[in-house]
Amino acid sequence: MAYDYVIVGGGSAGCVLASRLSEKPDNKVLLLEAGGGDWHPLYKWPAGFAKMTKGLGSWGYETVPQKHMNGRVLRFTQAKVIGGGSTINAQIYIRGNKHDYDEWRQLGCEGWSYEDVLPYFRKAEHNSRGENAYHGRGGPQAVSDPAAPLPICEAFFAAAGEAGIPRNPDFNGELQDGIGHYQLTQRNARRCSVVTGYLNSSVRRRGNLVVWKNCTVNRIVIDKGRAVGVEIDNADGKSVVSAEREVIVSSGTFGSPKLLMLSGIGPADHLRSVGIDVAHDLQGVGGNLQDHIDIFVICECTGDHTYDKYAKPHWAAVAGLRYLLTKKGPLASSLFETGGFWYADENARSADIQFHLGLGSGIEAGVAKMETPASRSIRPTCARARAARCGLPPPIPRQRR
Ligand SMILES: Cc1cc2nc3c(=O)[nH]c(=O)nc-3n(C[C@H](O)[C@H](O)[C@H](O)COP(=O)(O)OP(=O)(O)OC[C@H]3O[C@@H](n4cnc5c(N)ncnc54)[C@H](O)[C@@H]3O)c2cc1C
Repeated sequence: MAYDYVIVGGGSAGCVLASRLSEKPDNKVLLLEAGGGDWHPLYKWPAGFAKMTKGLGSWGYETVPQKHMNGRVLRFTQAKVIGGGSTINAQIYIRGNKHDYDEWRQLGCEGWSYEDVLPYFRKAEHNSRGENAYHGRGGPQAVSDPAAPLPICEAFFAAAGEAGIPRNPDFNGELQDGIGHYQLTQRNARRCSVVTGYLNSSVRRRGNLVVWKNCTVNRIVIDKGRAVGVEIDNADGKSVVSAEREVIVSSGTFGSPKLLMLSGIGPADHLRSVGIDVAHDLQGVGGNLQDHIDIFVICECTGDHTYDKYAKPHWAAVAGLRYLLTKKGPLASSLFETGGFWYADENARSADIQFHLGLGSGIEAGVAKMETPASRSIRPTCARARAARCGLPPPIPRQRR
């Protein structure tokens, strides 16, 4: 069968496109995803995020040794599951800073100023707080306030206030700057991925939409300078599917340039140097990756103020029961739902640093788990010894009340 649109990559972008394009019954749409289904409950429970950077639903990429990080090799999580990043991410609903969109427009991208894109953000959204100038209601993407914040978040806000960072109730509203709770891509304390939002069962029943999971695209088939189909690899072996109108490449930050380059689209000299026939010399493909580095500061608490103890099996069982009965507690938390935006460079055009307060240690791969996350009494001698062990200055003694 030939399709009008063949979409490569059933991630955040690909599922939305598949849903929107198949709204027109005349469009025959095929969505191809290398990963499998999102049946596992951990994809649905907000706190399932704790497992996501440890391998579930991801390609398992690692960086090469980083020369500016003492040769450190970092795990680089990229989704490999239907829904892509929206199925495994931390569910933080955050738009780009409006100055970023306006800069794109100034650079020549028509239709990309913040004023231009805002109606689409509003159209996509079903915000639990309701509608206003910045937010929409009735769209497929559910957005909600955190279901299970902890009192330690208030302490974090107070500390930020002391450092001169104001509280912001809505980072996607008038101003991004400040500290507060993020809103989350959740509905009723469950993750709302693009599969839940855009590819729900009534969309999947459309006769003009076909979704193939566990199906990897090896290359785009090009005929006389035009993309006319893709070569796929699945349980039935290799074959070619044709696209009468468009091949849409939505395979992610790494997947998209990789597929283009394997198809001969990219910088000609580089492609030739690795033995790939050049179909289209296109400078820039596969280069200029910009990523944000997380710097973790892990602290011992003065008491049981985080969700750390729930890593123990019996407490995990308690948390599971509480979630099933009340939709509250640790499992209802995406664990990174508090934070904000501020300035490392006070003259920056817009906030250049983002914060997350993790409600436990060891949540993400590569981040240490604390052996004793909560001491009822951190004795000064103990704290001094610990600081010395870590090569840190001695702690400042607390004032007696
Ligand atoms: C661990 C993690 C946490 C994150 N947390 C947040 C957050 O809290 N808030 C936020 O806004 N963003 C977050 N992000 C980022 C966000 O999820 C991504 O920016 C977004 O999902 C990117 O969408 P995409 O469609 O471009 O790519 P993806 O969603 O990555 O989709 C690409 C899809 O293409 C598939 N694919 C790749 N190559 C092929 C091929 N050759 N053949 C077939 N299929 C292929 C992949 O398997 C994947 O499913 C997070 C990302 C990660 C990894």
